[in-house]
Amino acid sequence: MTTEHSPAHSQGLIICEHCDSLYEAVPLKPGESAHCLRCHALLGRGHRLSIEQLLALTVAAALLFLFANLFPVISINMKGLTNEVTLWQSVEALAQGRITLIALVAGLSIIFAPLLQIALLFWVLLHAQQGVVAPGFKTCMRALEHLRPWSMLEVCMLGILVAIIKLSGMLDVHPGVGLWAMAMLMVLILLIANRDIRRLWDELGVRPS
Ligand SMILES: [Zn+2]
Repeated sequence: MTTEHSPAHSQGLIICEHCDSLYEAVPLKPGESAHCLRCHALLGRGHRLSIEQLLALTVAAALLFLFANLFPVISINMKGLTNEVTLWQSVEALAQGRITLIALVAGLSIIFAPLLQIALLFWVLLHAQQGVVAPGFKTCMRALEHLRPWSMLEVCMLGILVAIIKLSGMLDVHPGVGLWAMAMLMVLILLIANRDIRRLWDELGVRPS
């Protein structure tokens, strides 16, 4: 059994990954954690969010994603002229130069990866909320694992903030609605698409094979 994708749970028993002690699994409340009596290793943690809450946050993330992409992330005022740039426009601008590869990576990490994450999470959570295993569950869960390192909204945020600070010396630069939406989206994605989502394997009783 691989411990990377599934904790050592089976038939209501928990095996300590460090010293192989066997315990009976007890449902944990939010904020609670279970530790091994012999070696004090962490056995499990109570989840802070229910499936319903995760689903609601995923819907919120989808809306924020729309806002982040439809509204400008930066607006620049120069001699009375206002220029507003959306995320997509900035990726497009990169694609016109010789640095198409960077545009590709940027597009992937700030638009496509978060979009896919939100779509996959919505799919598996919507079914999980009804106690059903979503069609293609295993593929979706694996894709979510692979997407995590590609979703780099925080890096993008940092880049935009640095750009705003640097440009503000020369131009009249303002963060747009899209940037605020992106900041909130970043927090939501970190909250819902983290490793904790692996619990769905256990809760739905699907064995990663
Ligand atoms: Zn132990």
